[in-house]
Amino acid sequence: MSADIDKFIVPWVKAAAPYSDRHMEFAWSHPEVLRMMSNENPIPPSPAVLEAIQRAAQLGNLYPDSGPALRQKLGEIAGGFGKENVILGNGSTDIIDIIITTFAAPGDEVLIPVPTFSMYEARAKIRGAVPVFVPLRPDFSWDVDAILRAISSKTKLIFLCSPNNPTGIQIPLDDLKRILSAGIPTVVDEAYYELENEPRTLAYLIREYPNMIISRTFSKAYGLAGLRVGYAIADAKVVDYMMRVRIPWNVSLLALAAAQAALDDEASFMEKRRTIIEGRQYLCEEINKIPGLRAFPSEGNFVLIDASSLGKTSEQIRDELIERKVFIRPMSPHHMGQGFVRVTVGTPEQNEFFLRVLRAYVAEIQAQR
Ligand code: PMP
Repeated sequence: MSADIDKFIVPWVKAAAPYSDRHMEFAWSHPEVLRMMSNENPIPPSPAVLEAIQRAAQLGNLYPDSGPALRQKLGEIAGGFGKENVILGNGSTDIIDIIITTFAAPGDEVLIPVPTFSMYEARAKIRGAVPVFVPLRPDFSWDVDAILRAISSKTKLIFLCSPNNPTGIQIPLDDLKRILSAGIPTVVDEAYYELENEPRTLAYLIREYPNMIISRTFSKAYGLAGLRVGYAIADAKVVDYMMRVRIPWNVSLLALAAAQAALDDEASFMEKRRTIIEGRQYLCEEINKIPGLRAFPSEGNFVLIDASSLGKTSEQIRDELIERKVFIRPMSPHHMGQGFVRVTVGTPEQNEFFLRVLRAYVAEIQAQR
């Protein structure tokens, strides 16, 4: 291969910083370190899900379809929609990529209130689109005026995440409606919506605002991150276009079966939901008792922590906690200040372990002063 291969690479692919999967490689190769870095569910798939996967595996010589039965069911659950309103993805990251490919050509602008999930930016750049960042207000609320002002003739998409990762809060209905009224295709990423204190889907608004696309996933509340199933709910016309972009067979037979079984296994779902809701409340309260730290209330399976008073960078905190066998996520690379980190809610035992480590770590730093 010639060393000149660089000059053949599509310019925006060359310019895009690689999405770093290093944290995942590190976690898999260090099973002794508690993984609290990627908002995974700490509870493994239920026996019913495992059985369904095994049954599906016996048909592994066959190609899957686009999951019409699962799509129909998801549409009904979301509030009277049909399979023509639902498209499945290889995780909701695939859905995000399909949406960007459907709406944003190279040079088009994608509005992203930040801080938020980094994948909107990453996939927009890979497609040659230009992310336009609109900072959240200091209290993490959405600055609707600034979002509306940032819309240009090139704006093809707006990404909203509710509850937002990593700030944990929901977008107020009035704010959302003002943004939707601008008529720009607008994604509302509901990856964590099943974990809200009182789950409130916004899907019904699709009837009033056909420019709204809801994105969801089985990775969080349902705990199937490794199986890769996400989906979008949207106006039938939007789904029809997205279906053209989707790679056929993007969701495996095993993943389809797992998602279907997880939906049917209400008891396991409720247990996961309860574990996370109780865990995040407990983590938040306990972190707030540690002098110098501030934890923000969250409706997701994570808690954002302002640890800036420790005088460390976010990466230093991550590295020093890894030495103590807990892996959390630094937030400074994601449009946040130094010292901000995010921890995923674990099982009660995992939360206790994390808190013990964190208390000792903070006490050590404060004793050195
Ligand atoms: N949306 C948000 C807001 C997320 O935080 C995540 C995962 N961290 C995803 C989407 C992607 O999840 P998946 O691709 O596993 O569905």
